[in-house]
Amino acid sequence: MNLEFADFPPYAKPNSEALIQSRFRAVADLGVLRHALPERFGGYGDDFASLYQTHRRLGEASRDPGLMLMVNAHLWGAVFPILLYGDEQQRQQFLPPLLSGQWLGGHAITEPSCGSDVQAMTSCAERSGEGFILNGKKRYITNVPLADWLVVYAKLEGRITAFLVSRDDSGCTFSREGTLDACQGSSTGSVILENCRLDATRLLGKAGAGAQMIQKALEYERAFVFAGIAGIMEWQLSEVVRHSRERRSGGIHLGHHQAVGHRIADMKLRLDTIDLWLRECARLCDAGQRLTLVSAQTKLYAAEAFLQSSLDAVQIIGAAALEQRSAMANLVQDALAGRLFSGSSEVQKNLIAALLGTGEAYRDSAPSGKP
Ligand SMILES: Cc1cc2nc3c(=O)[nH]c(=O)nc-3n(C[C@H](O)[C@H](O)[C@H](O)COP(=O)(O)OP(=O)(O)OC[C@H]3O[C@@H](n4cnc5c(N)ncnc54)[C@H](O)[C@@H]3O)c2cc1C
Repeated sequence: MNLEFADFPPYAKPNSEALIQSRFRAVADLGVLRHALPERFGGYGDDFASLYQTHRRLGEASRDPGLMLMVNAHLWGAVFPILLYGDEQQRQQFLPPLLSGQWLGGHAITEPSCGSDVQAMTSCAERSGEGFILNGKKRYITNVPLADWLVVYAKLEGRITAFLVSRDDSGCTFSREGTLDACQGSSTGSVILENCRLDATRLLGKAGAGAQMIQKALEYERAFVFAGIAGIMEWQLSEVVRHSRERRSGGIHLGHHQAVGHRIADMKLRLDTIDLWLRECARLCDAGQRLTLVSAQTKLYAAEAFLQSSLDAVQIIGAAALEQRSAMANLVQDALAGRLFSGSSEVQKNLIAALLGTGEAYRDSAPSGKP
């Protein structure tokens, strides 16, 4: 596919791994993976404000939360951690193919026995000569089984540590187990590590620094994962307005019923509020400031707003919104996932309360610097 943004084909079922892969390649060809990244690795050397605008435009055209999740897992799960924590050799090896879309990346934190409580992870790494042996299982990992490389977190000597793991490593399987019914424009699967041997070059960052690396990656992800979804909500709102002007009930257009008009006003307010939060995240990133508090607030607000607006859209359109393969019904399912990925809404509230000096933080999100 060689496309302009406006021509990007909207998400449609049925989907397939081949289609997911070809949509990712088309996104890469549009340069979506190069924003806010240094030119020497193939980036545009521009800012996070440009990244936000690009994701928003892609979301509006593609109407595909799965595709946006795929892009975000790739960027915040793999590209930025390698940029921030990789040594020069790792940056040279990984960043150009990840930015061009030749390789698809992501990150593997969640396990069958732990999601929100990251510190409870049981995947472990042992030293073996100069290298490492990894064992454990990761679940609900975006971009698996299609990913080429993942940043996988496991405990080394009791402390969370990051490793670069390839789909071709012996002792490692990227499997379809645990595929989700939400965000179907992306793939989700499991990573099974059975005596997976890695040489010393696969350690990413310092041994034991994984918890801070997860926090940083999630800060970025929470700040921007809804940029594309804001674009999708723009489309969702325009569809609802169109429907409310075309359909009549009781001799007047639907939108003239105050109950309907108020729902639409609420949808508009939520969308504009999300955009304000997203612009603030981009501004802070471009100013080199910490995002801990604002990214948790953005993710919490946007996730809840996306779900409520998706429910409102179905209610206004009526039964037609629930027809098989309806894009509007899919968005409700995807919005439910939005309250879980990148840390659930409850986890964001814990973090916000902790940053205000009260409440229980989930341990990996405890503030390590200024909010
Ligand atoms: C579409 C999708 C994509 C994903 N992609 C990835 C990925 O790429 N990589 C990855 O590692 N993971 C990924 N995940 C997993 C995601 O990070 C977890 O779903 C999330 O961390 C929550 O964990 P859990 O689902 O195991 O729920 P649990 O942690 O078991 O929580 C269940 C419920 O209890 C609540 N809860 C848990 N602890 C607390 C607490 N301390 N205080 C208050 N409430 C609490 C939660 O909010 C939730 O409502 C993805 C998930 C989804 C849905």
